[in-house]
Amino acid sequence: MNRKSKLFLSFLVSVIVLTFFLYTQFTKAGYFTPKIDLPNGLNSPIAFSIYYLDVGQGDSILIRTADGHDMLIDGGPDGSVLERLGEVLPIWDRDLDWVVLTHPHEDHIVGLDEILKRYNVKQILEPDLKNVPDNERYFNSLGQEKAIPEEKAIKGERIVLNNDVVFSVIYPSNFQMEEENLNDDSIIMQLEYKGKKFLFTGDATAEVEVKILDQNIDSDFLKIGHHGSRYSSSQKFLEAVTPSVSIISVGVGNSFGHPTQDTLDRLSAVGSRVLRTDRNGTIEVDVGENGDWQIECSKGCN
Ligand SMILES: [Zn+2]
Repeated sequence: MNRKSKLFLSFLVSVIVLTFFLYTQFTKAGYFTPKIDLPNGLNSPIAFSIYYLDVGQGDSILIRTADGHDMLIDGGPDGSVLERLGEVLPIWDRDLDWVVLTHPHEDHIVGLDEILKRYNVKQILEPDLKNVPDNERYFNSLGQEKAIPEEKAIKGERIVLNNDVVFSVIYPSNFQMEEENLNDDSIIMQLEYKGKKFLFTGDATAEVEVKILDQNIDSDFLKIGHHGSRYSSSQKFLEAVTPSVSIISVGVGNSFGHPTQDTLDRLSAVGSRVLRTDRNGTIEVDVGENGDWQIECSKGCN
């Protein structure tokens, strides 16, 4: 092969590699989502996706709208959230509109520290605690270094991701929280879109569940409280929510025995389909503009 041919060949290879790279990135960003003959099973273009990220024993959930707005609810127990986000966000997107800390337990807050260091976070939402623990003080100091506004969650507040994707805070109903169990300071939020409802509960236990029964908590998708512990997901609560799909964020072989058999039995009694990050990996729920939805799981959904 002469020098000219070699040059041409390496040029051609570079073009092919670059085209492939750009195609995968644009596909991730949803630019190539076709309007008709949707291959993904939806009968309308994707409005937003929810990713219940597989971060081991902890919670981390990303909500991403088709026009590129993102909310991250909790960050899991370590830096693994960075890798998980890298799998679902386009490489150039370093912005997160909202970071929500449901409550400052290590399995929710530690990954968020890494997020604040590496992403351009626009706003933080957290519960207003009377006694702020050291790990949350550190998290707050990282936010203050970058001058990120911090909002304290309160019932009735609306958190806007874009015009159509708006969350309502259901709990807490007061500031200066001082629950004995930090899990019961968890922010609970609901997202409603075209009649479909998604409930996010942090680690709230049955003590809190009973306080929100009178609100409109009936939902299609429920992020199960406290990793499927026996102290959350009471029968009364599940009968009020009647989730079609329940998602348990839990680590493989965790030492807490989560999820407990009692919780799984209660879910089975209300006829909910159960997906778990320890078995199914990252669970992606795509919601179409008509309110239709479909689920994909990184390790298979069965
Ligand atoms: Zn937890």
